[in-house]
Amino acid sequence: MTMQPDTFKSLVKVAAEQVVACAPELTVLDQAIGDGDHGTNMKRGFEAVLSKLDAIGEMPLNEACKTIGRTLVMTVGGASGPLYGSFFLAAGDALSQKKLPEDLAEVFATGVNAVSARGRSHAGEKTMLDVLVPVLETLKADAGRPDLIERVRTAASEAVARTVPMQATKGRASFLGARSVGHIDPGARSSCVLLHAVCNKLEGRQ
Ligand code: ADP
Ligand code: MG
Repeated sequence: MTMQPDTFKSLVKVAAEQVVACAPELTVLDQAIGDGDHGTNMKRGFEAVLSKLDAIGEMPLNEACKTIGRTLVMTVGGASGPLYGSFFLAAGDALSQKKLPEDLAEVFATGVNAVSARGRSHAGEKTMLDVLVPVLETLKADAGRPDLIERVRTAASEAVARTVPMQATKGRASFLGARSVGHIDPGARSSCVLLHAVCNKLEGRQ
């Protein structure tokens, strides 16, 4: 079974709407260890994605994904724009060969690797990768399990919590040194919001 463009469209819609709704929370998180723009950056980017939703819903999945990536690169700004943009551009490239849902872990891995390459960053540095990498591990380890969605949701929430004691070594928060400890990373939280929205929609909760 291959995911239909309409299903993909509905997932993009809830994820974008959810991150827009969480913009105030993301702003507060970024005020603590950054410059306070993560909420407005993400809101701008995902509102731009929502404005293209009908066109995205008409495209093959690879083109749809790349359109999201280009839109985010052009509109989000900050460090997170090119990083989230790279995720979707690379995942879109992968989707020209791979299929959803069966190749989900491979497609997701391509996106995560692109973030890592673009950000010259890895898990453990208090960034969005501290959610994306554990979720990728769950997708690989638990593929085919009936409770995969629940496991992804839990992996994402637990991963956000694990950013609190971390000291940032990448991005703006790294300028704070030890003072970055004790706070949730904003990008980790926005990744979790996006992933939870997709999980909830897939389970029919939204
Ligand atoms: P900026 O830091 O330029 O103000 P945002 O506030 O929009 O950009 O995004 C900040 C988030 O971007 C951080 O919380 C972190 O998760 C993520 N981030 C920053 N630098 C990197 C990097 N090199 N690799 C991965 N993620 C990063
Ligand atoms: Mg910021």
